[in-house]
Amino acid sequence: MSTFSKIALVTGGSRGLGKNMALSLARKGFDVILTYNARKDEALAVVTEIEQTGQKAAALQLNTGDVRSFDTFVSQFSAVLTDNFGADRFDFLINNAGIAAHTPIGQTSEEDFDQLTNIHFKGVFFLTQRLLPILNDGGRIINISTGLARFTSPGYAVYASLKGAIETLTKYMANELGARGIAVNVVAPGAIETDFGGGVVRDNDQVNRHLASVTALGRVGLPDDIGGVVAFLCTDEARWINAQRIEVSGGMNL
Ligand code: NAP
Repeated sequence: MSTFSKIALVTGGSRGLGKNMALSLARKGFDVILTYNARKDEALAVVTEIEQTGQKAAALQLNTGDVRSFDTFVSQFSAVLTDNFGADRFDFLINNAGIAAHTPIGQTSEEDFDQLTNIHFKGVFFLTQRLLPILNDGGRIINISTGLARFTSPGYAVYASLKGAIETLTKYMANELGARGIAVNVVAPGAIETDFGGGVVRDNDQVNRHLASVTALGRVGLPDDIGGVVAFLCTDEARWINAQRIEVSGGMNL
């Protein structure tokens, strides 16, 4: 049965939200290739967990901030598609990988700015560009933004502006790829308990309680609040959702 499963690529699928997306996609009956940057062991554990659901999975190393490595990555990805999945194309691209960085406008170095830009915008643009030839017509692209692109929190000007760029890019992708039947949407999580930003939302009680107090549903988010939404956007039922920003934040800062 899984021979005919559609295949998703989730960047940054070794931990946090990407891991939850990968597992949610597998529970919907999709096969998954996930990437990691440094934590190979965690990525392989996710692969094992997906295989236990009966779906196929594989993990590949990828630094989404290093555009020069993308041609090699696409070759490796194509080889895995052929060798492990019996396919030469895939169906869903989830541009999730990312890092947090506190960058107050007055104290941000050009180096930090460039690193964030490479990972959160340039990398997403060029990785998508390089993968388009092997993304099936009728497929989906889901980009990941943040609530911080709608509301503000001092110190996140660069990160949030780049996510704003991703939201605009999503509309352009949807427009340019519509002729191929590819729908493109952006999911914007609120504050979620992951390792992100040193795990501050999860581990700093004061921050956690403050964020809960500005969230209509009265708590911060968990990875499980996000992955299922991304998986749903890959289903046939979601086929008419296109070019949308879907905030998944429990109603933050309303
Ligand atoms: P996380 O728990 O820190 O996990 C980050 C993931 O991205 C890991 O799989 C990591 O791989 C990978 N990664 C980090 N740097 C990378 C790089 N240069 N190249 C490739 N992969 C890289 O973070 P998360 O909370 O799941 O965040 C995932 C996405 O959600 C990000 O785009 C983030 O901006 C967005 N987001 C998060 C929150 C939140 O509150 N958590 C809110 C809104 C939006 P390794 O395991 O190998 O390090």
